[in-house]
Amino acid sequence: MVVELDTSVSNEFTLAMIKPDAVAAGKARDIMHAIESNGFYIIAKKYIQLTEAEAKEFYGEHEGKPFFPNLITFMTSGPIYALCMSKIGAISAWRALMGPTNSKEAREIKPTSLRALYGTDNTKNACHGSDSTNSARREVLFYFPDISFPQLVDQGDLRKYIKK
Ligand code: UDP
Repeated sequence: MVVELDTSVSNEFTLAMIKPDAVAAGKARDIMHAIESNGFYIIAKKYIQLTEAEAKEFYGEHEGKPFFPNLITFMTSGPIYALCMSKIGAISAWRALMGPTNSKEAREIKPTSLRALYGTDNTKNACHGSDSTNSARREVLFYFPDISFPQLVDQGDLRKYIKK
């Protein structure tokens, strides 16, 4: 569907993961449906089980924090989906749709969010989203190193895919 582009905010790409808990619970399809019905365009998708080294690299900024070992054990416990997706304001829009990091808190303050619906606690929280344009670029290239879409350089090229 081609619709008018709102030029007041820019089109962006972001990296989402559907984490092992949600995949194992059979919720990946529901989450992808929520993604698409909220106007994100899924540009690339990968079904993969992370190795310990890959998970440590992806979450390198958290190395040394008390929750890091649990996070790595969780993220390598089963397959995930990595999704490169686009929408106007994709980074903040996806984080809003996911809800707060802790699924218990999400159920209290944002009960319709994906982490409220599909996650369990502070670690098993169903999904991931990049938190800035820099991390989006790094994280997209982590999973899709061969990506050569012009949108990674000129995001305006994606306008034909924008959904309301
Ligand atoms: N996490 C955890 N314990 C914490 C905080 C975070 O296990 O106290 C995990 C959780 O899975 C989270 C991930 O580490 O999604 C990355 O944490 P971050 O603070 O970047 O939260 P996010 O950006 O995912 O909301």
